[in-house]
Amino acid sequence: MEAPAQRGFSFSGGGAKLEGVSEAKNVGVLALQGDFREHKQMLERLGARVREVRLPKHLEGLGGLVVPGGESTTIGKLAAEFGLDAAVREAYEAGTLAVWGTCAGAIWMAREILDYRQPHLGLMDITVRRNAFGRQVDSFEVDLMVTGLDAPFRAVFIRAPEIVRVGEGVRVRARLEGRVVFAEQGRLWAMAFHPELTGDDRLHREFLDRLVAS
Ligand code: GLN
Repeated sequence: MEAPAQRGFSFSGGGAKLEGVSEAKNVGVLALQGDFREHKQMLERLGARVREVRLPKHLEGLGGLVVPGGESTTIGKLAAEFGLDAAVREAYEAGTLAVWGTCAGAIWMAREILDYRQPHLGLMDITVRRNAFGRQVDSFEVDLMVTGLDAPFRAVFIRAPEIVRVGEGVRVRARLEGRVVFAEQGRLWAMAFHPELTGDDRLHREFLDRLVAS
């Protein structure tokens, strides 16, 4: 059973698996809406200490933040209401926080969102188009070639966005039929698909190992 929500500020999980190997990394999952639990479980399985982030104070001491899929309008509105967008920007600019947006989370990270006006973080120099893969095939899975991974990644797309523009300094890590679905800019990641749903933890592992400093 889940511990009571009052636990709030503390970390859960982690430690055990990496005992004696290395320090567990402190990461958060933005837990306003969407499938943050799946990300949390995967990160905990990898030995990270994971905190659910709902308020700016929950960012304290974190080296990374995962923004889940869900509904980007809702995530954006709630984040703005709680002052989380400004707090995440500040922590990122202070150089302490890596941020990884998946699906709706990637939309939230983008500097520009086509056709919609909605509150968003805007940290990453990319433009996205929501629901870009058509209405007929709302959801699908595909084996994706991802730069830096040695074998294809089974990617789940659910009403996914497309990254239609990447700025200078943004590296494209994966495309689907020529359309950008994973981009990296320093310690920022935006991906159109859900990497937390298949049990393949290679991207979560890379995020912890390479992007999260502490
Ligand atoms: N279509 C959703 C949006 O635009 C994103 C879907 C998802 O996160 N799986 O916010």
